[in-house]
Amino acid sequence: MLIAVRRWASADVEMVMSGSSWVTDDVEALRELAAAFFVKEALPREEEFAAQGFPSPDLWRAAGKVGLLCASIPEEYGGGGGTFAHEVAITEAQMRSGAGAMAITVHAGIVAHYLNAYATEEQKRRWLPRMADGSLIGAIAMTEPGTGSDLQSITTKAVRDGDEYVISGAKTFITNGHNAGLVIIAAKTDPGQGARGVSLLVAEVGDPGRETPGFQRGRVLKKVGQHSTDTAELFFDGLRVPAENLLGGVEGQGFIQLMVQLPQERLLVAAIGMAMLEAAVEHTVAYTKEREAFGRPLFKLQNTRFELAECATIARVARVFFDDCVAKHLAGELDAATASMAKYWITDRQTEVVDRCVQLHGGYGYMLEYPIARLFADGRIQRIYGGANEIMKELIARSL
Ligand SMILES: Cc1cc2nc3c(=O)[nH]c(=O)nc-3n(C[C@H](O)[C@H](O)[C@H](O)COP(=O)(O)OP(=O)(O)OC[C@H]3O[C@@H](n4cnc5c(N)ncnc54)[C@H](O)[C@@H]3O)c2cc1C
Repeated sequence: MLIAVRRWASADVEMVMSGSSWVTDDVEALRELAAAFFVKEALPREEEFAAQGFPSPDLWRAAGKVGLLCASIPEEYGGGGGTFAHEVAITEAQMRSGAGAMAITVHAGIVAHYLNAYATEEQKRRWLPRMADGSLIGAIAMTEPGTGSDLQSITTKAVRDGDEYVISGAKTFITNGHNAGLVIIAAKTDPGQGARGVSLLVAEVGDPGRETPGFQRGRVLKKVGQHSTDTAELFFDGLRVPAENLLGGVEGQGFIQLMVQLPQERLLVAAIGMAMLEAAVEHTVAYTKEREAFGRPLFKLQNTRFELAECATIARVARVFFDDCVAKHLAGELDAATASMAKYWITDRQTEVVDRCVQLHGGYGYMLEYPIARLFADGRIQRIYGGANEIMKELIARSL
């Protein structure tokens, strides 16, 4: 793994985002701080985290200490007081470092924002500062063994009982699931209804090993890639949460809340794709200039040059579109269809370009000690989670 660390660090990867219009001086400063943190503190521990299947909680606390968690949550709740641009800068720096173990996008970019938007004042003051310092890790549990894309068909139930809801059901593929102390659960408060029966409830589930009664963690799932990232099954069997943990305070609002938050989630997946796409091109340019075949660098072969010329063009076009989406989102003008376009198109281009770059690496492109192989294995899921790309196309088509 030390070899991998060296290779990630030595590729002289330029941050293209530095030229993006939304990158102000303080966003750039945060990006530099994040890049240094991930390379120095997280990357050397990737192998340890991959072996256990999740990052250790102390890394979360270390990230919180330097201000990498909840950067876009108001300062009064312990956050950084920044904007979505700060979240993107952290995401891109993390993905470029090769240290993807902590799913900060889910914790800070998604879960904290549901709480900031829909939790009560008292709840925000209780949960958000702990999420910002890394002592409380957040997850959002929508997907079930029998239902992913068709979210309105979930079967997890939340039944009102006096001042509490009683939650029963099973979730799978939940990012940060093993470490999470706080889980937003999508559940049916009215099983007779489809989308209108779905609500979001917050559960304080306890630290690993000291779970709240009625809550159980399942397996940490073994994945094709993202070996160091925490993806787990969760089970609820009579888990009681206070009635005020119903986000928004009114039953049946879950789908509407998801619709409001989803553009940001989709843009964060696109941000991961953007960083991976650019990193793939830059690592491959560096590699093919070093590696020789038939007496000259691979980069001198016309096929290599043309392939990389095309991949670099795709990366540039994607960056322009992505930057436009970020600028629109910062101005509160990003519509759901455009966010779906960004998620689908950028992740499709990401996996296409990474695959072409693996080819240009030859056999070394299949070795996990090379960044391009990690980008290949870690990146494939991008077209599936956050809403499968086929679902994105459905949403886009509905807007036409
Ligand atoms: C690593 C990882 C992390 C994840 N993290 C989370 C998390 O934190 N929280 C969470 O709730 N979920 C999470 N998920 C779940 C993820 O969001 C789902 O896997 C995804 O939404 C697809 O659902 P599914 O797997 O049930 O596939 P299905 O819904 O069974 O769909 C399978 C395939 O069918 C096709 N398809 C489905 N519907 C349509 C349609 N209407 N039109 C055309 N084609 C269609 C698509 O190609 C799709 O990929 C994660 C998954 C993974 C693998």
